Amino acid sequence: MDEHSPEVMTAIQATLMASELCQSVRRDLAGGESILKGDRSPVTVADFGSQAIICKLLKKKFPNDVVVAEENSSELRKPGHSKILGQVAHYVGGLIPDSSPEEVCSWIDYSSHTLQERFWTLDPIDGTKGFLRGDQYVIALALIEEGGVKLGIMACPNLYLNKDQPHGEKGCLFLAMRGKGSFQMDLQGGSRQSLSVSKTKVPSQALFTESVEPDHADHLFHQRLAQKLNIVKPSLRMDSQAKYGIVARGEATLYLRVPSPSEPGYKENIWDHAAGSIIAEEAGGRVTDTLGNPLDFSSGTRMERNHGILVTNGILHDAILKALKM
Ligand code: AMP
Ligand code: MG
Repeated sequence: MDEHSPEVMTAIQATLMASELCQSVRRDLAGGESILKGDRSPVTVADFGSQAIICKLLKKKFPNDVVVAEENSSELRKPGHSKILGQVAHYVGGLIPDSSPEEVCSWIDYSSHTLQERFWTLDPIDGTKGFLRGDQYVIALALIEEGGVKLGIMACPNLYLNKDQPHGEKGCLFLAMRGKGSFQMDLQGGSRQSLSVSKTKVPSQALFTESVEPDHADHLFHQRLAQKLNIVKPSLRMDSQAKYGIVARGEATLYLRVPSPSEPGYKENIWDHAAGSIIAEEAGGRVTDTLGNPLDFSSGTRMERNHGILVTNGILHDAILKALKM
């Protein structure tokens, strides 16, 4: 697979269109209304719109491929949510003309949760809480074959392009193909750069990144681990898989995700890690769970065999795993 492969070209086009939709929703509605799902997590007009567009484009090009995506249209079809459905159809219609509410629901429902030997996994908005706050969020799409991630793409509309200019131009697209490296571009496909992780060899000099939401990770445990490693820099808290991107481009040295005490047995979703993990690995990083096991993308939508996540520049991985055991 290379950048001219139909998979790569279609995935980039779909992700960029979804990113445009998300930015329009943010601009017009400041994120808009959200629906609380059964697990109390929010879903917005932009999550539904992004999934509709990406599923529609993938199915058109690859009719036999399965798409394992986070959302489905059951809430959206409820009579009480007709205003939100109308908004989803309106924003999708801005990019795919004449999209009816019924068509949009059917595109969202291309998603299936039955894994195949080859499938796509999609988080239409990873970091919905960040999206609603006006912080980081990403559109994350990955292609998995025989249990391994082969292609990962992340559009990050709110992430600064230049790591040395956090207040500079925003909007990054990360792309990684197995064996071909990781790249960053702007959202017009320009300013293409090959990425590599930080060369930091000394744990005390590491900058670590973690979730913003205290319910998504054990901040106190992370802080104690940082103290044990004599890390003095405060952690960089960021929503979404953008954390994998900032490790890949050498801005952060490690990304730690120990399950929060509010949900100690939490099992991660494959769509929350597939795209990010290949982007960090192809930039020279290492990704495992907090016990050192490889991430499991083949058992189901939940990563049942894993516990938390550890992403590093590779060099520090074993030292951090050891410190995690102490
Ligand atoms: P982040 O922005 O890195 O905190 O990750 C956002 C993702 O966290 C969402 O897409 C959710 O799927 C996921 N999530 C939801 N609840 C939890 C939890 N209790 N522990 C870990 N991750 C969670
Ligand atoms: Mg997510």
